[in-house]
Amino acid sequence: MKSHARVVVIGGGVVGASVLYHLTKAGWKDVLLIERAELTSGSTWHAAGGMHTVNGDPNVAKLQQYTIKLYEEIERISGQSCGVHITGGIMLAGTQERLDWLKMAKARGRYLGMDLELISVEEAARLFPLMDKRHFKGALYDPIEGHVDPYGVTHAYAKSAQIGGAEIVRHTRVTDLKARADGSWDVITDQGNVRAEHVVNAAGLWAREVGRMVGLELPVLAMEHQYLITGDLPQLVGKPEQLHAIDFEGEIYLRQERGGMLMGTYEKAGVPWSPVATPWDFGQDLLPNDLERIAPSLEVGFAHFPALGDAGIRKVVNGPFTFAPDGNPLIGPVRGLPNFWVACGVMAGFSQGGGVGLTLANWMVEGDPGADVWGMDVARYGDWTTLAYTHAKVRENYSRRFSIRFPNEELGAARPLRTTPIYERLAARHAVFGDYCALEHPLWFAPSAAEAVDRVSFRRSNSHPHVAAECLAVRDAVGLLEISNYGKFDVRGPGAAEWLSSIMANRVPAVGRISLSPMLNERGKLIGDFTLCRVAEDRFFLVGTYAAETYYMRWFERHLPPAGVTVRPCAMEYVGLAVAGPNARALLQSLVRDDLSSAAFPFLAFRRMEVGMVPALVGRVSFTGELGYEMWVTTEYQRALYDLLSDTGREFGLRPFGGRALNSMRIEKTFGTWAREYRPIYGPHEAGLGRFVDLEKGEFMGRTAAVQERAGGGSHRLVGFQVDAADADALGDEPIWHDGRVVGWVTSGAFGHRVGASLALGYVPAAVAAATEGFEIEIIGERRRAMRLAAPPYDPGGRRMRD
Ligand SMILES: Cc1cc2nc3c(=O)[nH]c(=O)nc-3n(C[C@H](O)[C@H](O)[C@H](O)COP(=O)(O)OP(=O)(O)OC[C@H]3O[C@@H](n4cnc5c(N)ncnc54)[C@H](O)[C@@H]3O)c2cc1C
Repeated sequence: MKSHARVVVIGGGVVGASVLYHLTKAGWKDVLLIERAELTSGSTWHAAGGMHTVNGDPNVAKLQQYTIKLYEEIERISGQSCGVHITGGIMLAGTQERLDWLKMAKARGRYLGMDLELISVEEAARLFPLMDKRHFKGALYDPIEGHVDPYGVTHAYAKSAQIGGAEIVRHTRVTDLKARADGSWDVITDQGNVRAEHVVNAAGLWAREVGRMVGLELPVLAMEHQYLITGDLPQLVGKPEQLHAIDFEGEIYLRQERGGMLMGTYEKAGVPWSPVATPWDFGQDLLPNDLERIAPSLEVGFAHFPALGDAGIRKVVNGPFTFAPDGNPLIGPVRGLPNFWVACGVMAGFSQGGGVGLTLANWMVEGDPGADVWGMDVARYGDWTTLAYTHAKVRENYSRRFSIRFPNEELGAARPLRTTPIYERLAARHAVFGDYCALEHPLWFAPSAAEAVDRVSFRRSNSHPHVAAECLAVRDAVGLLEISNYGKFDVRGPGAAEWLSSIMANRVPAVGRISLSPMLNERGKLIGDFTLCRVAEDRFFLVGTYAAETYYMRWFERHLPPAGVTVRPCAMEYVGLAVAGPNARALLQSLVRDDLSSAAFPFLAFRRMEVGMVPALVGRVSFTGELGYEMWVTTEYQRALYDLLSDTGREFGLRPFGGRALNSMRIEKTFGTWAREYRPIYGPHEAGLGRFVDLEKGEFMGRTAAVQERAGGGSHRLVGFQVDAADADALGDEPIWHDGRVVGWVTSGAFGHRVGASLALGYVPAAVAAATEGFEIEIIGERRRAMRLAAPPYDPGGRRMRD
């Protein structure tokens, strides 16, 4: 084994092998993969090898498309067969809700260029004669589905990488990792040490253990997973290979395996494997079968596909593989550990492994993943992912693998975990809570305890009239919103202003002022969206998306100067309340000594004030588009502030409102939000944030690209629509049609209660962005007429917010 390498990849499963191949493809030749046993000795060897393109996250779906196309390339380079069988697949719907879900999946596939087709039960039965038609209502057909040979795929990646210059050592275990002062790593193994510039943790089942070597507790957990192979079926003799099939009601997947069928299930009573530590002596082993546990799914399976029951069981496989709490991979550089990368938690290695390898290699070689990988970025998790939290969420996710997640459905595992001091007070007012980063926050308020429950639906739900009442109270009087669920950062030091100016696209505000600023990467793409509040010459309070806290910190720390500035995340030190609406000023004025007139405390002013007895940082800004104030207080004061505002607010018509009303109101104002409208695939001009990019202030990160984007106009535009909707509004990810062609996609949608119309925001090509007519948005399978709005439908001049 060599003593130095540019990269050491730990783990020779399908993911590590893919990373290795993509590094060589990107031009890095001095790369070494270290494998404890033989290649595939974790989850990979016993996988069912199924692959498909459909995924709830369109960006993950794109990587899955890439993975499947890649097999031909690695077979050609390596000469190793991947055993690819493209059979096509059907997803079977047994309920109307599932049929609606399939319609939405088909629509989402349209703008990804996927060739999905909704078919009748008769057509499904013609394609997949093993099914009993009586249990189904329809199906979605995907021609690009099939399976591969896990051994063949892993070795094809590995051989292709070796041909590209990579080295692979087997039967060598990495036992420890030691960081050097220069950012490189000593990789300690049982066969000697290697000094590496970069280390990649692709240790699959042992990713958690490798993480612990560097003090990292990765949120991954392995679950036992079983599939069985039936005896030969006479129905298959002399027939072309059967399609892949998913039966959502039975929570099972099926494919042909030689003369029989393979049937696997994600059962409700899933069982974690090695919940705390993964044994190092586990190799190409299987776990004992437990058919009892999957009996409920098997019963449904045998009823829905009777021939399988008659064929008997030839073999049962029970093996473990890992999941992150949301079921998506964990990839990218780890904050605080220079040159330490992860590629783990990949639960669908044969659909996603190629895309994961490509993304990580791009990130390492180019400094940027080259795609929008927010949904897979390891930085989407923070310190709330304790071991027990991860267990609860992974078990929930596993048990719901084939369940529908409705847009208004809040999942119950690991809740409530994090609460703010006013949680009980809000609950007493019949708040219906959502959790965001494991923090409870109110979504809407019901009139009574009995009504404080979401009835899940793809259509307007039971919360609709109550959310309407909240929006109208904000429009006509004043509303009170808990805003604790934002990320906050304390930036200080003599170099703070200069540094912020160098990484933010907008001008740094003067003391006592706020500026709204996008943050761009070197390519001029949006990687953040902040409210910059200047507390003092050398002190700033930044507010941004909470889920991106680690993502932002990773970026900040990478770009901090050696001295003169400190950045500290302080999300839970400061909690917040906002008041918004025409009576907001009078309410707050009755509680503070400061003059709140527009002349004395104008829009975007920021100041420390005493609200009653409570010291607060107060900013005049509101995401609702109304006159509003945001108040940030240290946690111990929140209850007193809430009580004070609630009591005093009564005479001003104060009403609490929640996240759903806020979402409706921000869409009425065409205000975008991170991870929906603002993502690293869009430039600020495309996203309508051009006015927040100050090209005159001097150099800043992404400026050159921003200048080019402005000159060239960018390829897409974020636009607002009024939609001729029926009883369902757009939510996000629906295709936008123009003149009979799919041209774009919705990023957010909601009913705008203040304007009384269904609304959507979305991206369309710049060339059609000026058209008003001719648009349609596909909502649950129906193309609804949509009119592009030239201006925000609510208060287009912005007077309500500013006066
Ligand atoms: C029963 C079953 C059915 C499945 N069916 C499918 C399917 O149909 N389709 C699909 O896409 N996926 C399926 N999967 C999931 C799939 O197997 C995984 O997504 C995939 O194997 C993950 O690969 P990996 O490389 O991340 O991890 P692993 O395969 O676990 O590889 C990790 C490797 O790292 C090595 N390693 C770990 N620690 C060290 C160390 N310290 N030093 C050196 N080497 C180390 C291990 O020996 C191992 O070889 C299935 C899994 C199971 C269990």
